[in-house]
Amino acid sequence: MINPKDAHIKPMPMPDADSEVYWRGIQDGKLLLQHCRDCGHVQFYQTSICRNCSSEHLEHRAASGRARVHSFSVVHRAPGPAFKQDTPYAVILVELEEGPRMISSFVGADPAVVTFDMAVELVCEPVDGGMALPRFRAR
Ligand SMILES: [Zn+2]
Repeated sequence: MINPKDAHIKPMPMPDADSEVYWRGIQDGKLLLQHCRDCGHVQFYQTSICRNCSSEHLEHRAASGRARVHSFSVVHRAPGPAFKQDTPYAVILVELEEGPRMISSFVGADPAVVTFDMAVELVCEPVDGGMALPRFRAR
C-alpha cells in the first residue's frame, strides 16, 4: 500500500530471498531465468521450487534478452504523480525467447511504434536508489 504522501516517488523492487540473485543480475545487465535441472522447465519470476514439477533443483541462467511483444498498452494518463512525466509510455507483455512471459516497459522510441509480435531486446536501465530495471527496446 502506497502512502499518499509518497505518491510522487516511484515504487522500487524490494528483493527477497528468492529474487535477490535476479535483481543483482539485472544490475549486471543480465536477465536471469530459473531452469529446472529435473524437467527442463524455464521460469520467470523466481520461486524456490519448479512450478512444473516442484523440484528444488533450479539454476539461474542468463536469458538471451531477445523477446517479442505479446501484448501492450500505451498509457496516456499516469496512474499517479510519480509517472506523470513518463506519459505516454507503453507497458508491454513480452514473450522471452526462452518461453516465459514478463511485464515490462518499452523504451528508446515513441510508444506509438509498438506493435504485436514486434521484436525487442532487453536493456537494463539504472534507476534511483542504486537499482536497475529490465526494459525492452526495438531490435
Ligand atoms: Zn521441474
